Amino acid sequence: MAADRRIVIENCAIATVDANDTEYASGHVVLAGHRIESLGAGRAPEDLENVVRRIDASGHLVTPGLINTHHHFYQWITRGLATDHNLFDWLVALYPVWARIDEPMVRAAAQGSLAMMARGGVTTAMDHHYVFPHGSGDLSGAIIGAARDMGVRFTLARGSMDRSEKDGGLPPDFAVETLDGALAATEETVREHHDSSFDAMTQVAVAPCSPFSVSTELLRDGAQLARRLGVRLHTHGSETVEEEKFCHELFGMGPTDYFESTGWLGEDVWMAHCVHMNDSDIAAFARSGTGVAHCPSSNARLAAGIARVPDMLAAGVPVGLGVDGTASNESGELHTELRNALLINRLGAHRERALNARQALRLGTYGGAQVLGRASETGSLEPGKLADLVLWKLDTLAHASIADPVTALVFGAAAPVTASFVNGRQIVEDGRLLTADEDAIARATRDEAQRLARIAAQG
Ligand SMILES: [Zn+2]
Repeated sequence: MAADRRIVIENCAIATVDANDTEYASGHVVLAGHRIESLGAGRAPEDLENVVRRIDASGHLVTPGLINTHHHFYQWITRGLATDHNLFDWLVALYPVWARIDEPMVRAAAQGSLAMMARGGVTTAMDHHYVFPHGSGDLSGAIIGAARDMGVRFTLARGSMDRSEKDGGLPPDFAVETLDGALAATEETVREHHDSSFDAMTQVAVAPCSPFSVSTELLRDGAQLARRLGVRLHTHGSETVEEEKFCHELFGMGPTDYFESTGWLGEDVWMAHCVHMNDSDIAAFARSGTGVAHCPSSNARLAAGIARVPDMLAAGVPVGLGVDGTASNESGELHTELRNALLINRLGAHRERALNARQALRLGTYGGAQVLGRASETGSLEPGKLADLVLWKLDTLAHASIADPVTALVFGAAAPVTASFVNGRQIVEDGRLLTADEDAIARATRDEAQRLARIAAQG
């Protein structure tokens, strides 16, 4: 859309999630091209030129688009397996299946993961992909292509594993890459796909998988590679008590100290989970500006524990939300994580003061933009920022009797998405994707899940 063509959205409640949490009970947003031009209380001015569309959004809340900061798209075709396991047992059960994935499977799984999130209000997605079986094709290209076709803003965290069972790690020997192979392929992916411009639709991060599946050299060299290329760093950290024990046994220190010793704390780093953190770990994250992807449903599914999100926020740690892979969060939705983050944290130490509705919304929007390094571009509704926003329908049976729209969105049932815009382009209308055929994706993912199960059963 040309920069001077305007879309006006009005008569809606607006939660901007800006620094002051500015809200309007009834207001307007004007999009010009792929940016937000203006917003405020009341109706938009009548004399705006080049208005191509005027949306009466009565009964809706408009928020920034949701930002997912941790996922594994390929797991869409291994959902519902190993359902009563902790992390390490679950991984050992699934690695042999995951090691058989190929490009058509990964493409279908990426489409399924993206479709589920996009129709639920996600405008910026990420995929931490770390399984690259020998001869499996161009998996990174397939994932990035799927995100581009869906029309969502996207970060590919190019993962890797090189510590297999023979080196004391958890993955089987056939599921890992070599140190040099992983580094070279990661650099190639950054050079081919990373866009550092303001309105980039595709970015790439360097993302060795976890302390128990990656050598110390891959962590250290991966951090150096990311800084040489000027891209962000991502990994899993402090997810379970078993991981903590593993780090103490192998490295003589806890996960956070181990990450610090390998160059993995810094404002260009974000880590998934961070459940088992003591006060000094949280202080180290705050001091260094290291971000966290909080994944409450996955942490519950794998019985990992409750991350100390209120303590992290109080210390100044940037925190976003993550679906995590759908083999440990079968729903694959991020808007339900707003509610789950709030509820699960109230089971922790701070009880009813742990998180409120507005803090939960901030985690899923601005907090996500912070940890992905894109807070100046997206994550809040402000003039000049990218036109990534969602119209939530709050006037139906599910929400109409709740007076406060942000409370309705976070505490209530998953709200229907009437429209979702990414970069000024509408990708969802009345809960259906405009950029993809959901039914075709459902069929393809079922077929690829069955093909993977057959191949894995053959051993
Ligand atoms: Zn994960």
